[in-house]
Amino acid sequence: MAFFAYLFFMQDLRAEFPFFVENPGLCYLDSAATSLKPKAVIDALVRYNRAESVNVHRGVYALSQKATETVEAVRAQVVDFTLAQRENTAIFVRGTTEGINLLAHILTSPESELAPFFTSFASPKKPAILLSEAEHHANIVPWQIVARRHGYALFYLPVNKEGELQISKAWLETILATHALRIIALSLQSNVTGIIHDLAPLRALAHEQGSIFIVDAAQAIVHARTELRQLVPDFAVFSGHKIFGSTGVGAVVGAKPVLDACTVYQGGGAMISLVEKEQSQYLEAPARFEAGTLPIGEIYALGAALDFAKKHEQAIVENDAELTAYADECLRRNNIGFFGDNTTRRSAIYSLRLDGIHAHDIGTLLDEQGIAIRAGHHCCQILMRALGVTATARASFSVYNSRDDVDRLVEGLRYVRKIFRKSA
Ligand code: PMP
Repeated sequence: MAFFAYLFFMQDLRAEFPFFVENPGLCYLDSAATSLKPKAVIDALVRYNRAESVNVHRGVYALSQKATETVEAVRAQVVDFTLAQRENTAIFVRGTTEGINLLAHILTSPESELAPFFTSFASPKKPAILLSEAEHHANIVPWQIVARRHGYALFYLPVNKEGELQISKAWLETILATHALRIIALSLQSNVTGIIHDLAPLRALAHEQGSIFIVDAAQAIVHARTELRQLVPDFAVFSGHKIFGSTGVGAVVGAKPVLDACTVYQGGGAMISLVEKEQSQYLEAPARFEAGTLPIGEIYALGAALDFAKKHEQAIVENDAELTAYADECLRRNNIGFFGDNTTRRSAIYSLRLDGIHAHDIGTLLDEQGIAIRAGHHCCQILMRALGVTATARASFSVYNSRDDVDRLVEGLRYVRKIFRKSA
């Protein structure tokens, strides 16, 4: 597309987000925390609550059946959008955090029968889980809880000072000499640096060791869908709110036969076939993992969000590349450092390095100029330690951002630097 046609197209796309009408002039650079919602998504949420506000999987009346059909259609859409392998299904959860808690629980429980699918589960060696230092707390703490409960060892792939994964064969061989690597759980894209990790060698390791390979796709779902699909993980987990959807819903995607061999997570209504006083029988996956009433309106909205993401996939990918190239250039020209500067595969999430200026001061001074970024450890304390900082100021872009937003950020950062030079 010619450059000006592209600009007009992107302006039209931005107009689909009512947030900018409600918050005129705000430069929103916190999409890694949560993305804005297009009108179609808000409309879907409202449509459910206004016109189809009934429960699913229970009612015999037509409207309940219609709502059930919508929910099941979104489930199929989630599988199709993420890992479209024939055996796969999707479990609706609150988001990535709940999804990883669910997997941690069911995949380490002695009641699950996973040896027929993953040979590491038949090994007499001490069971282990492999994570990395780049993980979000959502992909660390649930594993710590179950590791302690079931006697698993936890290992962390190290990262270098830029936040890139360091895969050492010798290091892995030492672990494998004494441990059966049952689970490898890694984020495909960092929410701190925007680095899209090359997980292919770890995918190969999982195949070789008969391990379960899980991808935290919270960020990658928007920025690296192609890589996600190429990896063919056993499970992928994401949150709807990071991909233009509502908060309150996300999904775990994985093979139904494996899930059927797993013990249940939460108990309650809608996940059983028979309840007796002493025990109950459970439904098959995914229903057995969906106790209680689903977030139905949010699922409607997720369907609209995935439609939006699919329809505008090319624009999302092109704008990401365009803004990354432009921001890289502008930041470098102004001597503003950022983590992952030398990494080849990365997209528009920047953890900035303004020496001697605290991340929170940067955030506050930018806020005064109408620029919303995030400052803190970004739920990645282990990564912060590896990078040698306690916090970073993070600016993250999405499809509704443009070069103007990059210019405003850089101007804002120049102002921050000026203030601090004066007061120094
Ligand atoms: N993993 C990564 C990489 C993330 O960026 C996030 C959200 N910042 C999460 C997990 C947790 O997502 P949620 O809070 O939606 O459960």
